[in-house]
Amino acid sequence: MATVEIRNVHKSFGAVEVIHGVSIDIADGEFVALVGPSGCGKSTLLRMIAGLEEITDGEVIIDGTVVNELHPKDRDIAMVFQNYALYPHMTVYDNMSFSLKLKGTPRDVVKGQVQRGSEILSVQQLLDRYPKQLSGGQRQRVAMGRAIVRDPKLFLFDEPLSNLDAKLRVQMRAEIKTLHQRLGTTIVYVTHDQIEAMTMADKIVVMQNGVVEQAGPPLELYDQPANLFVAAFIGSPA
Ligand code: ADP
Ligand code: MG
Repeated sequence: MATVEIRNVHKSFGAVEVIHGVSIDIADGEFVALVGPSGCGKSTLLRMIAGLEEITDGEVIIDGTVVNELHPKDRDIAMVFQNYALYPHMTVYDNMSFSLKLKGTPRDVVKGQVQRGSEILSVQQLLDRYPKQLSGGQRQRVAMGRAIVRDPKLFLFDEPLSNLDAKLRVQMRAEIKTLHQRLGTTIVYVTHDQIEAMTMADKIVVMQNGVVEQAGPPLELYDQPANLFVAAFIGSPA
């Protein structure tokens, strides 16, 4: 379980500042959608939470501990990207068990965890296949399965459904919601799709040009947008 506090975080690449003092509070078990147009800083913020990008100024606090200097491996976070990034030369089973084996987890524990993960994501029948033998939706399930076998306390998703067709996207939304209900893990979910955010999240954070325009429950943003940008973004068709 994890709380995340983002305190006045800034990020510069060279001389260019792209995140200008963002603060977000995420409660334990909360599903937070981070939305906004392309280039507004969503991925960069997510990568700073994960430890994949250095924080220029401000603090990221996970479960009460400042993690700015903590190596990604020591943050107990799982990240799922849009391009899946499965290991092509490994079977589904090996993909899912790789990180646990790396940690020296006993073989029977690994087996149990992969079994549990593959059941939750409905990929039990696919464990002997290679990524190239899977459909896009199956690959995305395996990527999520690979993330949950480690029992992370925090999931970070970066537009995980954007490579899928519309029908599959709707189905996977429901599956990710079920996953959240079942595991109760805190989730930060980046998307540029406001429908996805409205239907999935407990709380939506709307960003534009490296600042937070508004944060709140979906209905609050819908009923009481703080400004024209939020109103236009939430109200526009997908
Ligand atoms: P989003 O995920 O919302 O589309 P990003 O976080 O990827 O936005 O990017 C935010 C801004 O930071 C953009 O202007 C982008 O060009 C810039 N940016 C992202 N990564 C780098 C990088 N490694 N070097 C320089 N600029 C970057
Ligand atoms: Mg991005």
